[in-house]
Amino acid sequence: MNAPVPTRDQVDAQCPACRLHALVPMLLRRIERDRWAQAEPNEDLGNDEVVQIDACPVCNGAWFDVGELDLLAGEATDLEHALDPSSRPSKRGCPRGCGIMREHDLPGVIRTPVDHCPACKGIWLDGHERHKLAKSTTREGQQDVKKRLARRGAIWAAQLLVQLPVEVENPVNTTPWVVITILVALFGSFALQLMGIVDLGNCAPGLAGLPSGAMFGDLADGATFADLCFAPVAGSLKHQWGRLGFAALSEGSWYTLATHWFLHGGWAHLLGNCYFLYIFGDNVETLFGRLRFALFFLGAAIVGGFAEVLLTQNTIAPIIGASGGIAGVMAAYLWCFPRNKLFQVVLFVQLKLPVWVYLFVWVGFQAVMGVFATSDAGVAWFSHLFGFAFGGGVTPLILWMRRGEVARSVRTPALG
Ligand SMILES: [Zn+2]
Ligand SMILES: [Zn+2]
Repeated sequence: MNAPVPTRDQVDAQCPACRLHALVPMLLRRIERDRWAQAEPNEDLGNDEVVQIDACPVCNGAWFDVGELDLLAGEATDLEHALDPSSRPSKRGCPRGCGIMREHDLPGVIRTPVDHCPACKGIWLDGHERHKLAKSTTREGQQDVKKRLARRGAIWAAQLLVQLPVEVENPVNTTPWVVITILVALFGSFALQLMGIVDLGNCAPGLAGLPSGAMFGDLADGATFADLCFAPVAGSLKHQWGRLGFAALSEGSWYTLATHWFLHGGWAHLLGNCYFLYIFGDNVETLFGRLRFALFFLGAAIVGGFAEVLLTQNTIAPIIGASGGIAGVMAAYLWCFPRNKLFQVVLFVQLKLPVWVYLFVWVGFQAVMGVFATSDAGVAWFSHLFGFAFGGGVTPLILWMRRGEVARSVRTPALG
């Protein structure tokens, strides 16, 4: 056997499970008896045995044509014949376009039913099933055991220091330019703060309840950039609204809702935010597309800041931080990749937690702090909470658009 010879038509189908991506061909070559490695695009495959499966980069599910699963699962199993012969109609269509598949149980092996096409005999495995039944087709399963342990050890050591979650799987292969741009902007703004060019002190309310610093409109009257206020102060905004009504939106300092997220209260605040944006943002940006992601982030930041203005009991402190936008991104990640796992060290024990466990703990924490820590001037808890709510509400709409786009771009759209 020389080069890979796909003997039949390429699969050109929408993922039948999450419907958020077209299936992507994945070439595996046998490197040892029971070990397979993903072949690089232009790799010389020599005489290696090669199998091509079709996987979804979003939900990690994969399509196996007849025979492929048994080959990849190893000699000990005969999965295709172990399927319980009784079956029921599945909700999913065969990626080869044969029509609806059927659900079979795989007694004694896995609890969830497996989708099987009665016409072409191919099998669809969801991400977690693929992880269990065909581990060699996942990145983790292809790694050397020693390397895998070393990697986990290194992660563990790093986490003892920082106590933050580290993403396990779900690599992206496009450059997340929007995330990078936001990170650069956050660090740049913080540098301006450190140099005193952007001064939060400008936002301290004056006696009339208005910001004592200049507003954008004042630039024409000789105010300089260094005089401007960039962070909303709840009491000032409410006062402006009461005095001017809708005119406050153009004449007051309400524009600060769009600028406040650039600013941070200190290194820990900044680095914590950047870390979460980096971990969760790249995958969401890849899935949403750049423009949609940028608007989404800005929307979550503004909605979060607005909620903080309305609800906070601390009406004189400037509201700052990208947390609202990042909370929105975390909510989106939860919608898009609910089964992804994060490593978390808890009291020296390394746990591999599904992302939703981590995020629910995080959200619960925000809620509790929002109720009890109202006097904490440094943390805008309501902006976290409402940024997250914005993300949770808007993401399904974006995913719906995305599913339509994917369906139109392939030969075999998914059912439903
Ligand atoms: Zn999928
Ligand atoms: Zn089929």
